[in-house]
Amino acid sequence: MTIIKQQDFIDSVEAALQYISYYHPKDFIDALHGAYLKEQSQAAKEAIGQILINSKMCAEGKRPICQDTGIVTVFVKIGMDVQWQSDLVVQDMVDEGVRRAYANQDNPLRASIVSNPIGPRVNTKDNTPAVVHIEMVAGDKVEVILAAKGGGSENKAKFVMLNPNDSVVDWVLKTVPTMGAGWCPPGMLGLGIGGTAEKAMVMAKESLMDPVNIHELQEKGAQTPIEKLRLELMEKVNDLGIGAQGLGGLTTVIDIKIKDSPTHAASLPVAMIPNCAATRHAHFTLDGTGPSYMDPPSLADWPEIPQADTSQIKRINLDNISQQEIESWNPGDSLLLSGKILTGRDAAHKKIKDIVDSGKSLPEGVDFEGRFIYYVGPVDPVRDEVVGPAGPTTSTRMDKYSEMMLSDKSDGGMGLMGMIGKSERGDIALKSIAKHKSVYLMAVGGAAYLVSKAIKESRVVAFEELGMEAIYEFTVEDMPVTVAVDTLGESVHKTGPAIWKVKIQESKK
Ligand code: SF4
Repeated sequence: MTIIKQQDFIDSVEAALQYISYYHPKDFIDALHGAYLKEQSQAAKEAIGQILINSKMCAEGKRPICQDTGIVTVFVKIGMDVQWQSDLVVQDMVDEGVRRAYANQDNPLRASIVSNPIGPRVNTKDNTPAVVHIEMVAGDKVEVILAAKGGGSENKAKFVMLNPNDSVVDWVLKTVPTMGAGWCPPGMLGLGIGGTAEKAMVMAKESLMDPVNIHELQEKGAQTPIEKLRLELMEKVNDLGIGAQGLGGLTTVIDIKIKDSPTHAASLPVAMIPNCAATRHAHFTLDGTGPSYMDPPSLADWPEIPQADTSQIKRINLDNISQQEIESWNPGDSLLLSGKILTGRDAAHKKIKDIVDSGKSLPEGVDFEGRFIYYVGPVDPVRDEVVGPAGPTTSTRMDKYSEMMLSDKSDGGMGLMGMIGKSERGDIALKSIAKHKSVYLMAVGGAAYLVSKAIKESRVVAFEELGMEAIYEFTVEDMPVTVAVDTLGESVHKTGPAIWKVKIQESKK
């Protein structure tokens, strides 16, 4: 009988969450580097390069890979011969580990959990509760697998009940393009096939905890139907041409993970959950000898990515920008932004809309006229940082506010000039962008620490009570962005993947 002490479990969870906040797994870095080397789409290559540079900076600086430090999901496999020395149940021990990890003084992580999904959605401020799956297994150890899953990728989870003879491949290939780029590809797709509806979802999530190893399968060849399916999906999903950040390119996924389980003769449940550029998971075992701490990786594990030549990139002064200038930008153009921008995301937009609808005035200092907004919820700063990691959030969630934000003040709108975020825009936003001759620029999701280095000053302008969702004013210097939608409403997220899909098809003829 092994005795597992409460403190050992809590300390191990805390340490693992800090570790995964700044260290990508080596298998992920290697696979991403492979994708970088073979990428032929310049925009996608630059995006992967930024993710790799960001990854190394985070490992060196011990700061989060992404501003979204995730919802914690834990799989705890408890040996039948284990006895706990604890006043707390497993959920409470996990939550205590989460609480401590997210409040770490040297590397505070962003608290993103709201207590009630319907209603006021109040932030619990310590990122608890975690989602905990417990399984009793043979043996005398406790195995823990934990992940910090970003909202952008979790939001793209899919589930379907297929008929037994339907094609899983067809469903995946039909579904992946509908997921857009909000899941920050390149990453992995985790599939859970079989069982029941809830079993399939849990298997899909757990499959993402396995290492990136499709190259081994590609070398040895498929021996089972599931292995055959992995290889087929790996090739066909990449043939869609979606590419890094949805810009069009050769690599959309670096692996396909699948877990399966027996199911009812009438059913074929299939769950699919993507994992993003911020792949964060840790595995440890407690055997009663004390807490488990993972060894730090060697910085030599990270490849040297050449810094992009910025001499040819247009430098833009946002403090003195004209309508004529933004109309000269084309989809896919790289820009370096300097000057002042305002921030805002879901809660701030909702609050602005509520104020507008009630006929009241916005708080003093909130004036979007002629300005750019950056959709971001930064991590709190430490030491000499102006702001913590501050990468873009998924812009599609703000689509429904775009007409209000872009309309002229004389028409009751905010008079906003342009927007900065990540992923594609939906049709309503594209229509508003074209109507108001606005633009939408994208920064790379998953390169949050790198992006934060371009932010030289930060101050809260309004809605301080919203924490990371408050409206800030950032002063940026050479912030790298790509023109994702031009003033005519043309979107790189439509043209890029379409072009690369054809190029890939032609290269295979
Ligand atoms: S990489 Fe993208 S999807 Fe993943 S946590 Fe960061 S912003 Fe969210």
